[in-house]
Amino acid sequence: MSDAGLSPGVARYVAAAQEAQRRRNEEIARMRRCRFDTIAVHGLYTMSESLDYNQGSIIEPIYMASSQAYRDSDEMEAALAYLVPTWCYSRIANPSLFYFENVLALLEGYGFDGETSCCATSSGMAAIHSATEPFLSIGAGGAGRPMNFVATCQVYGGTFQQFAVRKDREKGVECRWVVRSTDLEEWESKIDENTRFLYGELPSNPGQAFFDLAAVAEIAHRHGLPLIIDNTVGSPALLRPLCHGADVVIQSVTKTLTSSGFGIAGAVIARKNLTCRFAPEELKADFPMYIKALPNRDNGPNLSPMNAILSLNDMRTLRSKVDLFSRNTMRVAEFLGGHPQIEKVDYLGLPAHPLHALASRYLFLVDAEHDPEYGRPINRYGHLMSLRVKGGAAATRRVFDAFQRIWRATDLGRVKSVATIPAISTHQQQGEEGRRLADVPPNLIRLCVGGEHPDDVIADLDQALAAITGKVTVSVPAAFSVGGASREVPGR
Ligand SMILES: *Cc1c(COP(=O)(O)O)cnc(C)c1O
Repeated sequence: MSDAGLSPGVARYVAAAQEAQRRRNEEIARMRRCRFDTIAVHGLYTMSESLDYNQGSIIEPIYMASSQAYRDSDEMEAALAYLVPTWCYSRIANPSLFYFENVLALLEGYGFDGETSCCATSSGMAAIHSATEPFLSIGAGGAGRPMNFVATCQVYGGTFQQFAVRKDREKGVECRWVVRSTDLEEWESKIDENTRFLYGELPSNPGQAFFDLAAVAEIAHRHGLPLIIDNTVGSPALLRPLCHGADVVIQSVTKTLTSSGFGIAGAVIARKNLTCRFAPEELKADFPMYIKALPNRDNGPNLSPMNAILSLNDMRTLRSKVDLFSRNTMRVAEFLGGHPQIEKVDYLGLPAHPLHALASRYLFLVDAEHDPEYGRPINRYGHLMSLRVKGGAAATRRVFDAFQRIWRATDLGRVKSVATIPAISTHQQQGEEGRRLADVPPNLIRLCVGGEHPDDVIADLDQALAAITGKVTVSVPAAFSVGGASREVPGR
């Protein structure tokens, strides 16, 4: 045993763990040769994992236990020194999370010719916090000046708050917004020697902003900085940022990945040996494992094993679901584009969208070229679109209130179609001026089309748009009516 200073008992466990790790690495290599759908369905949960460790269960088990027991003091010592793979305590790691994390690492790393890993978190916001704070904690800013980071301003509302309020205002870490993310010179002009990372979201929620990912990665790396990308909307079924040069990927697993809507989850996925000129080797070598073993161990934003397996179960059919949602969204967008009550439709899939050509260079349905139905690369643009209703805020609310099948909820990526009016919900706190800058007018409805037959979604939109002039049917909450009956109310 070369590990000097280990007692023979501890060394025995380390040797056994090295052998187990070697077998697992072989399994990862085998899985990486499979197609996307196969990885999504099986991940690292093999027959031997099942038969040797999990009583033959064909589905990954949900280990709700708080902690792991050890055979003796030697194993405990080896485990708590992280000398052997262990899960110790569910705040740090857990077998159910292990299966979930490895599927996501493989899916985000699909087609990427390096290794990837993943750290699950309790939410997408926890993932963003976990992925950014380490770069703001290491070393001092140059000559005592405050650190900064550069981010696209078209980001999810929660991200905007975390960056502008929690980091910039409360902690004095300057957030430098890139206003026009397609302008590469603007990205570069914001970087200086105190910049810690570059951050972007694409397609952005709700604005569907898009930028040249490979070109921004090149700028980041020229300055020795990591590029972090929020890939929530597209998911690895349409876009794998690591393949285009990104160092770290964020997932709000809550959304496209857990399309059933069974709870909140997040993840940080990264390439091994990421670019960062100021970080120590241990951070760069395996960033998600660094997060898991150190800051998240101490801060505790961990995912519940139950949620990990619910999300994993949804992820098995990710590719075909994203294809279905995308095709349905395209049909709905085309219908709305020709509707007399609609002022404007925004969908990256429509050739008239100003970012259509750029997005078409990046958003492809994974493995379409290996699909007997398609047999060639196929662009797909996801489930997120928006529409602007003629007649202002009041008409827009009337249409929105008349939906009978589309759910009114601030949510996205669901198997059920959902819609929101951002001006009165997600973007309410930004104020009128902020909404004008972000191009979120009061007549904008964000719509995420799900897995229903598109004809039925179109029929619901059609009858709701007819409500601008006619009468509206409002269903009264069960608590306020006998049997939750509907009643006719005059159009307002
Ligand atoms: C919802 C969302 C988040 C935050 O994720 P939670 O799981 O809700 O914490 C982050 N980024 C994007 C793009 C989102 O849509």
